[in-house]
Amino acid sequence: MRTLVKGAVPGWLQANGAAKTQEYKDAADKKPTPWRNAEIVAALEDECAKKCMYCEATIDVVAYAAVEHIRPKSRFEDLVLAWSNLGLVCPKCNTNKGDYWSDEHSTQLLNPYEDVLEEHLRFQGPMVTAKLGSLRGEVTVNKIQLSREGLVWARAKRIQELHRILALWASEQNADRKSLFVEEVERAVGDDQEFTGTLRAYATQQGFPVEGVETVPV
Ligand SMILES: [Zn+2]
Repeated sequence: MRTLVKGAVPGWLQANGAAKTQEYKDAADKKPTPWRNAEIVAALEDECAKKCMYCEATIDVVAYAAVEHIRPKSRFEDLVLAWSNLGLVCPKCNTNKGDYWSDEHSTQLLNPYEDVLEEHLRFQGPMVTAKLGSLRGEVTVNKIQLSREGLVWARAKRIQELHRILALWASEQNADRKSLFVEEVERAVGDDQEFTGTLRAYATQQGFPVEGVETVPV
């Protein structure tokens, strides 16, 4: 998980949001899925860099336009097209989250668009764990299963690749060649890469000065 910033409301949503929301609310069965509108999905892909908003795995959005309703549509029909309520999610996190919602703030899932993630989460190697004392961190890690086996393996592989570049950067004495490794590390932890939160934390822990780090580990 990493901090996300909401982009502008897509034009289609501005023009049709209210009518399509009403249409959704009025439908007795066979509810429409207006959030799968191509413009909405494209905008979400953009702001999430085509990664799951929870686990940061890359999503095959062509095969599965998984639009996440942060407040579940089963309980918040008025918000089925509210821009601030939409994100991009991978199938596994989507299933794990299900219709979870808590009216108590202390047990709500972390929202990467709104919450200061480093107050709740720790990135330790391939694991994502809750910061001790953060109930919301615990709820999020457990409910979404942010350290599920498949993710841990995938993150570990990325860490090994990153470590290889970091080791070259650390041992390089020549300034010109060193700056090339700096660029390579920065590409490896870039926003378009999987598991940015994990990789930036790892690079920082290894003493690499990552710019704009939002998820600083303790
Ligand atoms: Zn996910």
